Amino acid sequence: MAILCTNALVVNLDRRKPILKEQQILIDQGVIVQVGKRIMAGGFRVEERLDCSGKIVMPGLVNTHSHLTEILQRSLRDNVRMEIWRRYRALTEEIANPSAEEIGAAAELACAEMLKSGVTAVVDHFSTRPGLSVPKMKAILGAFDRTGIRGVLAPSLSDQDFLLMIAAKSSKSRPRERRDKAPWQDQVLQVLDHIKSSSTLSGLVLGPSSPFNCSDSLLREVVDMAQQHDLGIHTHLLETRLQRWGVRRLYHGDLAGRLQRLGLFSPRLSAAHGVWLDEREMDLMASSGATVVHNPASNLKLGSGIAPVVELKERGVNVSLGTDGGDTSDSYCIFEQMRLAAFLSRLTRDNSDQWLTAFDVLRMGTINGAQAIPLWRGKIGKIAKGYRADLLILKPQLRLNPLNDVIHQLVFCGGSHSVETVLVDGKIVVRGGHLTRVREEKIIRKVEPVSKRMRRLYRAIAKNAPHSAELAIGKLYKNAFKEEKRPRFIVH
Ligand SMILES: [Zn+2]
Repeated sequence: MAILCTNALVVNLDRRKPILKEQQILIDQGVIVQVGKRIMAGGFRVEERLDCSGKIVMPGLVNTHSHLTEILQRSLRDNVRMEIWRRYRALTEEIANPSAEEIGAAAELACAEMLKSGVTAVVDHFSTRPGLSVPKMKAILGAFDRTGIRGVLAPSLSDQDFLLMIAAKSSKSRPRERRDKAPWQDQVLQVLDHIKSSSTLSGLVLGPSSPFNCSDSLLREVVDMAQQHDLGIHTHLLETRLQRWGVRRLYHGDLAGRLQRLGLFSPRLSAAHGVWLDEREMDLMASSGATVVHNPASNLKLGSGIAPVVELKERGVNVSLGTDGGDTSDSYCIFEQMRLAAFLSRLTRDNSDQWLTAFDVLRMGTINGAQAIPLWRGKIGKIAKGYRADLLILKPQLRLNPLNDVIHQLVFCGGSHSVETVLVDGKIVVRGGHLTRVREEKIIRKVEPVSKRMRRLYRAIAKNAPHSAELAIGKLYKNAFKEEKRPRFIVH
């Protein structure tokens, strides 16, 4: 079925001509086949015409780091650092032990929220307690398919506990690896086969939780499997000051050397956060063609710091955007991340010429996101001939009026409020602001029982859990604050 968009103001983010007026876009079988003022639609059976007069058409937004099921613990915690937040999240989930069906329902809720705010593609770095399983991973894929979003599943892998290791003070007294050769490869291969044998838009990348929560042998297995099956690798990297401090102690100051030796640095790699990357690590990210996923809302809420995005950009590192989980940024909106990313860059440089512009962050939220994941490279993130038709039609609401500068206003005036129609792979998944494939009220009802259970358990845990672990983390942080004084603010 062909779709023809007419009379559109197209934001295509080309450096020379980022805005095109009075455009027609012809979409056939999920692909953009023509874009221009006058196109030849003669050979196509156009079944739907979308009149875009007075509207803005832009590429769909790409969320390159997210945890969908964390939506169940949305807004349960406020002023805690990442390590403490993580402890409560894990304890609550462990006891709640959500079923595959409940996981699928939670993921569906997050996907629905994303589509309505203009996110058309997402990476779900999926971890769950007490552990991953094939049905649970398939539940996430099911949520992608039901809602119509373009999803990539990154099953989270780990076999050691970084916090226990730094508490033990040195890598020599590191606790024994607790993994008894879990059959993660078998499980992941089963899911990969399932993806290949179905007509899904979804894909899979390997998701080591972080290089510090994985032994050398696990990271080697990940790199080997990624090469063998041509997969991306997605991980958390240097999110907090405590991690920076601990890593110096554990790897004798040479994390970069460890990751390089294990073959992690490559164009396959997308690493979330990178707040505390040092110069050498940034250089290696640049020379290897890896991506850093900037998660400004999560970094702010957890007090993790400000990622060195301007420095990364100057080195030529591909920087994309992520929302992180529903309880660390409380929202799955990439428009919000773009605004924060632009604003935060202004705290890192005196020279205003070096700040991130609206154009920069709009690219980070679209084409750079596509570049981050090998499966998406050259296929999405742009409105141009040959690209898959993942796009947004925005009807400028009050906040985009008067429309003086389209790109500035999409970023600084909350473009998500104007999302009217969303296409993923040429299919309309949001029309007139409403989801077309799933019923919003039904999803909310489906999630209710498990979210109630989580809320009740979290409150009981927060009241009764011994505070010794929190005190231990606080003590480690005191050391980190003393020794990690590297400024994350103004560079002159
Ligand atoms: Zn994360």
